[in-house]
Amino acid sequence: MDQDIATVLIDRHAIATRVAELAGRITADIRADLAKEDGDGRNSEKDVEITLVPILSGSFMFVADLIRHLPLRMQIRMLAVSSYPGKATETEGSTVKRELTNLPETLAGCHVLLIDDILDSGGTLKLAADLLREREPASLRTCVLLRKKRDTAMHVPVDYVAFDIPDEFIVGYGLDYNDFYRNLPDIVTLRPEVFQ
Ligand code: 5GP
Ligand code: MG
Repeated sequence: MDQDIATVLIDRHAIATRVAELAGRITADIRADLAKEDGDGRNSEKDVEITLVPILSGSFMFVADLIRHLPLRMQIRMLAVSSYPGKATETEGSTVKRELTNLPETLAGCHVLLIDDILDSGGTLKLAADLLREREPASLRTCVLLRKKRDTAMHVPVDYVAFDIPDEFIVGYGLDYNDFYRNLPDIVTLRPEVFQ
């Protein structure tokens, strides 16, 4: 597996540092917003409750690390979206696999944090956000581990981004090529031979 790596773009230590930092910001923002909303200060730390919606499969490792730095009461609802099926390295349009969704019928009263692995064309995040908005959450925030430096991605509104990266196809830390390489601890590019 390691022989397929061309370059390490972001190593595990840089990921860990940034994930912890981002989690601190998310926690502070959510606490501040929910306390503000409440007005009378009743929303003490222990009352702050959120609904996390990770988009599967690519975000699983990011979410696993992120939530260990989010000291908030939370429910986790998964959403499976497929956009780079199999060996594709360009998006082919996103579809939601509804059978792999444990979203409740309504999100009324829920403060939702939607999490994806990478923002590329923006199709996946938009599709998932629209699906959540239909269920009328009290608030909706979005968070991605990676954002590609390309026009389509940079123009998508998103609340939290861990890293901006060059417009290259990357794998590792949960992200796949043909469902392989998800277990690599670093975010890497692959050698061209791998795609042949
Ligand atoms: P978008 O819908 O924004 O075009 O693409 C988002 C989805 O495409 C991500 O959730 C991810 O599954 C996949 N994707 C986009 N870029 C990459 C990439 O560079 N590497 C991998 N492995 N998946 C990607
Ligand atoms: Mg994928």
